[in-house]
Amino acid sequence: MQTAHTLDVLRTQVAKLREGGDTVGLVPTMGALHEGHLTLVRRAREACDHVVASIFVNPTQFGPNEDLDAYPRQLEVDAAMLEAEGCALLWAPNAAEMYPDGFATNITVTGVSEGLCGASRPGHFDGVATVVCKLFHQALPDMAFFGEKDFQQLAVIRAMARDLDLTRPHVHSIIGVPTVREADGLAMSSRNRYLSDTDRTAAATLPRAMKEAIARIEDGQEPAPTLNAFEDELLGAGFDSIDYASLVDSSSLAPISALTGSAARLIVAARIGGTRLIDNMAVSA
Ligand code: AMP
Repeated sequence: MQTAHTLDVLRTQVAKLREGGDTVGLVPTMGALHEGHLTLVRRAREACDHVVASIFVNPTQFGPNEDLDAYPRQLEVDAAMLEAEGCALLWAPNAAEMYPDGFATNITVTGVSEGLCGASRPGHFDGVATVVCKLFHQALPDMAFFGEKDFQQLAVIRAMARDLDLTRPHVHSIIGVPTVREADGLAMSSRNRYLSDTDRTAAATLPRAMKEAIARIEDGQEPAPTLNAFEDELLGAGFDSIDYASLVDSSSLAPISALTGSAARLIVAARIGGTRLIDNMAVSA
């Protein structure tokens, strides 16, 4: 596996990979890799001739009081994991390479980015959309792979690809990969390592209570009181606060008060011991 720290090297290496018409799949990450990330790499390997993974802890998607400085960084360990998965190229720019002096451009995707995490993390999705657009232009992948774990992020990126007529990757070659979970159901996340043992045990209440709430809603119970009871259960289990727990339309991410026959999602962000956890699951109509 090659590692590129500068754009010149990245472009040269990508051009080599593409020789003879070979295809390239991109897996953007912020590092501190786990099985969720590696599943994206495996999916990309199945679909494309070569995989480029990026590791960049993007400062512009962190708010002023968020965990940018504390975010785990372990480039050498991550590189070894990517190499073992058959990744061809690691793109690991520094912030100055990504945001040269005078950088002044911002991409805002309205609509899907506005509620949910967009409401509790102002500016977050502008940071995500802008850096992902740059990554697409830098690595020119044929396909790009993102986790459904970050369901709203996936919707924002698909909207951006459609609206800006991105051809590499095209909106239909942005692939969403189902969430990979720990044995007790907790969605894997680089942030899970912040949890104390007690909070880690309590955190498993999140996916379990989500499944129970979904079963009740699918059974015909009213979503609003069901979600109130769900929130109470999280607070009772040791969660400190809930940013949101919403039943939304899977495409628009607009809140819905009842199942309508089109695809729906239960989507949640909740805080425990200073760590913000997110999760989402499909709800059948
Ligand atoms: P991150 O490093 O957290 O920015 O995540 C990089 C990519 O990995 C994003 O597309 C995430 O949605 C995806 N990802 C993170 N955790 C998981 C997981 N548990 N299952 C599947 N994909 C994930």
